[in-house]
Amino acid sequence: MNKQKTIIVTGGAGFIGSALIRFIIHETNFKVVNVDKLTYSGNLESLGSIDHNRRYSFEQLDICDSFKLRKVIFNNKPELIIHLAAESHVDRSIDSPNSFIESNIVGTFSLLEQSRKYWQSLIGQKKEDFRFLHVSTDEVYGDLERSSEFFTEETRYNPSSPYSASKASSDHLVMAWHRTYGLPAIITNCSNNYGPFQFPEKLIPHMILNALKFNSLPVYGNGKQVRDWLYVDDHVRALLKVAAKGEVGETYNIGGNNEIQNIDVVHKICNLLDEFLPIKNNKINSYSELITYVKDRPGHDVRYAIDASKINKNLGWEPLENFESGIRKTIEWYLNNHNWADNIQNGSYKLSRLGEGNK
Ligand code: NAD
Repeated sequence: MNKQKTIIVTGGAGFIGSALIRFIIHETNFKVVNVDKLTYSGNLESLGSIDHNRRYSFEQLDICDSFKLRKVIFNNKPELIIHLAAESHVDRSIDSPNSFIESNIVGTFSLLEQSRKYWQSLIGQKKEDFRFLHVSTDEVYGDLERSSEFFTEETRYNPSSPYSASKASSDHLVMAWHRTYGLPAIITNCSNNYGPFQFPEKLIPHMILNALKFNSLPVYGNGKQVRDWLYVDDHVRALLKVAAKGEVGETYNIGGNNEIQNIDVVHKICNLLDEFLPIKNNKINSYSELITYVKDRPGHDVRYAIDASKINKNLGWEPLENFESGIRKTIEWYLNNHNWADNIQNGSYKLSRLGEGNK
């Protein structure tokens, strides 16, 4: 990774995109152009540690705006485009699916078209080296029934929510642009991420921040839904590995080997908060007493589990964090960075649980 490349990252003001950009600026000598519309979940404060760096620049735009997108791509002449921009919250997709269709499907189409035109304009080594990396989710595979089953790269797509259906559509578009036009694209499908700078509507920051305010901790249904959890920096390392060494036209599943029931995640958070910030002078003795059960989300998938052996065997990637180490780091970060979350909650988001499940 010595030659100086230019990477365009879409969605770089979001949770995973900002972790990716911080990593690239700190750990490589690449230039990064962050293309982000700054929706409710985009936050430039997450890039405060690197935004002064001369290898970083920011373009505020909607990826559906093909005209502006074309200019940014052709002006910056990237060797790599990593596409993360998307509407990402399942509950919001149930309440109002429109923006999911727009950003995740139409937006990906617009980005693919402009990337194809740019790639077709290249010649020689620059054309050979160009890559388009599409960042997707394990939710496109739907639900697993038996505990012996895992999602592999061959698992049939079977999405349940408007969010996962929109991501599945975008994956199909990416593969079609590869097969039809030869665009050198690769797809990754990753399990649930967690870590610093995650928007507070998602399960882990939601529970941490509510517990710190002694609000109730609403768990959907019986809380027995199983997810595989991956620390965000491990995802970032996997993405850069796939971009550098992955095979064009291939899909790579990325997972953390950490299958945990949602209720156990919430108990773990409560136990660690009891350790880090013991409750004094309150009506309760443990944060776990704040847990309540609320009506389940419609179409709630019961179990996701990733078989990540392909990326492990072919590209030599494996996660560095286990859930115990990653969740400790995450809780410590939220405890030490009140301002970041307070600024979000001083805006329009008030730590409510979104979606039908809570109505
Ligand atoms: P996020 O919601 O935190 O960030 C999304 C970013 O995309 C925001 O900065 C937002 O402003 C931007 N954006 C949205 N629509 C846009 C548009 N039309 N034009 C330009 N920018 C736009 O999401 P995240 O959790 O960081 O997820 C990033 C990507 O990774 C998504 O594609 C998601 O599907 C995928 N993914 C997420 C997870 C997870 O657990 N969070 C797991 C697997 C895959």
